[in-house]
Amino acid sequence: MSQKKPEKLVDENNIRLDGRKLNDIRPVKIEVGVLSNADGSAYIEQGKNRILAGVYGPREIHPRHQALPDRAALRCRYHMAPFSVQERKSPAPSRREQEISKVMREALLPSVFTEYYPRTAIDLFVEVLQADGGTRCAGIIVASLALADAGIPMLELVSACAAGNADGRLILDLTDGEDKNGEADMPLAYMSNSNAVTLLQMDGMVTQEEFEQMVNMAIEGCKQLNQIQKEVLKTKYLNAKEADTEKEEEAKEEAA
Ligand code: ADP
Repeated sequence: MSQKKPEKLVDENNIRLDGRKLNDIRPVKIEVGVLSNADGSAYIEQGKNRILAGVYGPREIHPRHQALPDRAALRCRYHMAPFSVQERKSPAPSRREQEISKVMREALLPSVFTEYYPRTAIDLFVEVLQADGGTRCAGIIVASLALADAGIPMLELVSACAAGNADGRLILDLTDGEDKNGEADMPLAYMSNSNAVTLLQMDGMVTQEEFEQMVNMAIEGCKQLNQIQKEVLKTKYLNAKEADTEKEEEAKEEAA
């Protein structure tokens, strides 16, 4: 089922089809620690995107020849469920999924202290349950949280957000429709404290000035998402601490 190209992606008041302003990110809801069988996990709802990440490790590596003598091997698999898009996606691994697995791994690697766990594997699985543009960015956001949830030492969380160009206007955090019908899409991953870009890709044609503005816009989006990521982690550990204190108090009362 192919969708018709909308006449306009941005109206005369600079409002987009989903009601957002040019530099608004989509509404985001994130949960951490959602899978009890994984060492770390996270789930994100971002607009219509629904993405789950699970981390296993550091653990024994198989096949053994992949072991690195001085660090852990970070292995990443990005996968889209057949029902994640309107037309059924073939369950066979596609070149796009291989490419995204590779760039996600490279975007996250600078944040992980792999040297703490030589000869082991840290396996990261990103499952897209529903896709609506920007899934590699949303995947990086949950993957970074899942790594933190697994207790893997990290420099900081990695955030990601795309900027683009539609109807001659620069826009932030593109939906699938804006990506397909717009003029340019530029996903970017970013470490806020280090001020380091760990992924930058671009589809389409823009001027150098637009490119620079898009980089700055995407970084601003990443900073907003980084705040949300940090709050989600803090809330989870504060709740866990409160639950522990309650348990301790109950145990004390029972003992008295
Ligand atoms: P990203 O999801 O990181 O933006 P792309 O730019 O390659 O990656 O894809 C944009 C969007 O296109 C995806 O988020 C998804 O909504 C849609 N899409 C990707 N692959 C397929 C597919 N095989 N069938 C239908 N839609 C797809």
